[in-house]
Amino acid sequence: MRCLICRKWSFRIICKTCQEEFLILKPKIRLVGDIKVYSFYSYEDIAFLLNTKYYAIGSRVFNILAKKASVYFSQNLSDSFSEVYGVGIDDNPKKGYSHTGILLKNFSSRIKPIYGELNARNKIQYAGKSLAFRQNNPKNFSFKVKNRNLVIFDDIITTGTSILEAKNIIEKNNNRVLFALVLSDASS
Ligand SMILES: [Zn+2]
Repeated sequence: MRCLICRKWSFRIICKTCQEEFLILKPKIRLVGDIKVYSFYSYEDIAFLLNTKYYAIGSRVFNILAKKASVYFSQNLSDSFSEVYGVGIDDNPKKGYSHTGILLKNFSSRIKPIYGELNARNKIQYAGKSLAFRQNNPKNFSFKVKNRNLVIFDDIITTGTSILEAKNIIEKNNNRVLFALVLSDASS
């Protein structure tokens, strides 16, 4: 196959050289409401890679992005957590995989994954939509987990509407949200 970035022939969907030279970690922390949201890549750098989530090829791309982020997280950010669980926004498979499920799996050595929770009952797409539109069209997540310390995972944060809505329903079930992890912050 050809590397998605440099188009040279490679056994990997993103060749080793591009993984090292192009996928540069630019970690940031943003406060959304009172939740810390950790992000790992600049949106400008990886926007076209994040768009692969609409296609089968995205599972391999997300594995590469998530793996690199999780190594950084383990080395730099992860305090000694115990009994911390992760949930992914819209963690239900499309095209044979779930992109937030791939994030959960890659962080599973530190944060225990709870797969298939936080599914939007309102299947609306927020990409390209205004803050007002997002606030007027909540995703109406279903969520059944109770009494846990939780981390929310998503691929991208834009306005923060989805994460705040997720936090509300998670806390209604007597859980505590510790922070959120996203691959990229698109707000800046
Ligand atoms: Zn390449």
